[in-house]
Amino acid sequence: KAKKHLGQHFLTDENIARKIVEGLSFEGYNKVMEVGPGMGVLTKYLIEKEQNIYLAEIDKESIEYLKQNYSKITEETFVGDFLKQDFQFTNGEQIAIIGNFPYNISSQILFQIIDHYELIPEMVGMFQKEVAERTAAVPRTKDYGILSVLIQAYYDTSYLFTVHENVFNPPPKVKSGVIRITRNPKEGLAGNEVLFKQIVKAGFNQRRKKLSNALKVLNIPEDLKTHEFMDKRAEELSVADFISFTQLWKDSL
Ligand code: SAM
Repeated sequence: KAKKHLGQHFLTDENIARKIVEGLSFEGYNKVMEVGPGMGVLTKYLIEKEQNIYLAEIDKESIEYLKQNYSKITEETFVGDFLKQDFQFTNGEQIAIIGNFPYNISSQILFQIIDHYELIPEMVGMFQKEVAERTAAVPRTKDYGILSVLIQAYYDTSYLFTVHENVFNPPPKVKSGVIRITRNPKEGLAGNEVLFKQIVKAGFNQRRKKLSNALKVLNIPEDLKTHEFMDKRAEELSVADFISFTQLWKDSL
């Protein structure tokens, strides 16, 4: 029986499961971690394609089920809670992420990926459609926000396909979307990551205000107080704008 507090909605369509796994390129890494394998609908196709798989699952019943039903899956395959991962076990080697993710923690999952982008060249996965769309959103749209800018600063994102609620048990309330993100950290970000995240978050936390107001919480450097971006709202800045603005800010400190 599905556990609601763990965001469990089991995919029942084998073709969609196969298509999600086929969304991975299997290039540039030889390890894949699946987040939330559940009863293994994706895992089944994944183990046909990749030897080194790691499963992040916190539901004991699912873990027992997978160990009993797949000879390639053992206790050692499991790495625990995805949000608590430090990825130490990869020894600095590249690892791709795949999952039909628990929707109650979608944003945390994406932030966890961004925080470890150096180890994660690619992710393919399913989120509620709205979150999937936010990752690929462009400036001056309502979907464009913290998640869009932070993800797009490190990854190229593509929206692969929409999945209807009736192919899950139990069906979720909303449609789902499958995305792929491919690492491509933007130039100019290096070394400024903390400040970059602070500026993006402060800007969008008061998204109706001009940046001159929204960024006050960060003590705007004197030189930047008259910058043209200060008259704009966060949603009017592109990812490249946020990055160059962060660089200017750093230079003014
Ligand atoms: N992959 C399966 C499928 O497609 O049918 C299950 C998907 S279900 C939407 C999400 C899964 O994530 C559940 O199996 C749940 O137990 C697991 N999960 C929830 N929170 C988790 C966490 N913090 N770390 C790892 N797995 C988690």
